[in-house]
Amino acid sequence: MTQRIAGGAGTSDCEADVLLIGGGPAGCWAAITAASHGARVVLVDKGYCGSSGATAPSGTGVWYVSPDPTKRAEAMQSRDVLGGRLADHGWMRRVLDRTYGNVNLLAEWGYPFPRDDHGVERRDSLQGPEYMRLMRRRVKEAGVKILDHSPALELLVDEDGAAAGAAGVRRQHGESWTVRSKAVVMATGGCAFLSKALGTNVLTGDGYLMAAEAGAELSGMEFSNAYAIAPAFASVTKTLFYNWATFTYRDGSPVPGASSRHRSLIARALLEGHEVFAQIDKADEATRIAMRGAQPNFFLPFDRAGIDPFTQRFPVTLRLEGTVRGTGGLRIVDEGCATTVPGLYAAGDAATRELICGGFTGGGSHNAAWAMSSGAWAGASAAEFSQQIGDAAHRHLTRSGTVVLAPRDGHELDADALIRTVQAEVFPYDKNYFRTGSSLAHSLERLDEIWRDVRAAGASKVERVVKAREAAAMLATARWMYSSAIVRAETRGMHKREDFPQEDRTQHHTIAVGGLDEIWTTPVPVARAAEAGIAA
Ligand SMILES: Cc1cc2nc3c(=O)[nH]c(=O)nc-3n(C[C@H](O)[C@H](O)[C@H](O)COP(=O)(O)OP(=O)(O)OC[C@H]3O[C@@H](n4cnc5c(N)ncnc54)[C@H](O)[C@@H]3O)c2cc1C
Repeated sequence: MTQRIAGGAGTSDCEADVLLIGGGPAGCWAAITAASHGARVVLVDKGYCGSSGATAPSGTGVWYVSPDPTKRAEAMQSRDVLGGRLADHGWMRRVLDRTYGNVNLLAEWGYPFPRDDHGVERRDSLQGPEYMRLMRRRVKEAGVKILDHSPALELLVDEDGAAAGAAGVRRQHGESWTVRSKAVVMATGGCAFLSKALGTNVLTGDGYLMAAEAGAELSGMEFSNAYAIAPAFASVTKTLFYNWATFTYRDGSPVPGASSRHRSLIARALLEGHEVFAQIDKADEATRIAMRGAQPNFFLPFDRAGIDPFTQRFPVTLRLEGTVRGTGGLRIVDEGCATTVPGLYAAGDAATRELICGGFTGGGSHNAAWAMSSGAWAGASAAEFSQQIGDAAHRHLTRSGTVVLAPRDGHELDADALIRTVQAEVFPYDKNYFRTGSSLAHSLERLDEIWRDVRAAGASKVERVVKAREAAAMLATARWMYSSAIVRAETRGMHKREDFPQEDRTQHHTIAVGGLDEIWTTPVPVARAAEAGIAA
């Protein structure tokens, strides 16, 4: 394999049984589990494993439900209809079981769960900084080699097309790296299109692009338009607390019907050019104290700005969180979180979460549960796959990346301009929140045209290639997202079609999507495990 990028100081190569790409909760659980199965594991992260990604800076609710049959049944029902009845009850049960076990393991490992007034530990919420510090420690103790600040750029594949490692750059060393492995777990998180939502600056859909270049399929990409309420002057997107808020126009009159649940009315008001203000005035004293304890970082921007959000109004906006709190991602084809590429497994937000929340957001509990469950399953499967490969010396490996990786004389990609162009198609509420066939077609035409330009462009320096790949991954993600949205001619889950405002029984399926230059979509029947009282 040849080096692609000029300007680097050197290369660093190593071998592993399992390569983990991404060191958020999903990647950490996968790494620990793969190592516990005897695999030699390397984990690479674009940032610093332990403080990078969506979980690290936030308080996180977890779908932790005791194995009481009534409570479990209620938990499974909670998002079933909201998610357009696309979730699979068998997967929900598995995730509830695995999450219960994994959270209890966290307690054994010393996670400091708070106790309620009766002295009982509250295990349904985790503080990102403590959780991820503990996970990094456990990953290191498991003997996993960590490469921080080392974004992966492309996958390596063998002569049969199986995933066999990856290549990337070590930003702080100015050099490239290559890890040859027998299996790969993609745990690069979702894509929030650099909307400035806290923790999502590294989440540009890189894993989707890398996997798609190796031939992987995605699913649920139409459910990728999660918008969260945030103060207009800050990046913290904790929509839950706005359950206690009143929303008003500048003159103090209420925005009719607006609430955290009915965010579309806030979007409409903002679209009409109004400023919208919130005040968290419905929280009583006990709730206010609990909020500060549960999510200290929610209050930081207010404290800095000298605003008391309980007694003063402040301007709000809606920030796109894309697939981070949407449910789209790489398509999973078995219980071990295999993708459609042999040897490639997906976990966390890199994978579709339709299996447990259909088309409704996985934020607030399900996503965290999915990250720890799918991470553990993907890590175990990757370790098993690596054992089946045995001696890998005979494998002939090639690089599978094809987009903006090689220098192209005279056509350097302008990543900043590309990012702005993609954002102009995915941020506006009248394009992405409220969708119509004609506006989706218009956006797709624009995005496809830019894709052709990007195909002819390259990046010639190490310091430019990471950003170029991020921009290209955002573009690819936007195209899969709108290609899926245009064929779902109905309203289901978070996918709202103004021209088809009702759910259509004949479209009760998921949508697989793939391809780079030519994007294809195909409906996939929903497997609904038999469940008394729940109609498929
Ligand atoms: C503000 C906020 C609050 C949330 N609250 C909740 C909640 O209460 N409950 C809930 O269930 N969910 C919540 N979510 C969603 C939850 O945070 C995510 O589902 C979860 O973080 C997913 O874990 P992950 O490991 O898949 O991805 P992440 O935690 O996002 O980690 C992905 C990792 O991959 C790395 N990476 C990315 N690209 C590359 C690359 N090219 N090469 C190498 N590494 C790469 C990143 O640096 C990062 O470390 C919230 C999300 C946000 C934004």
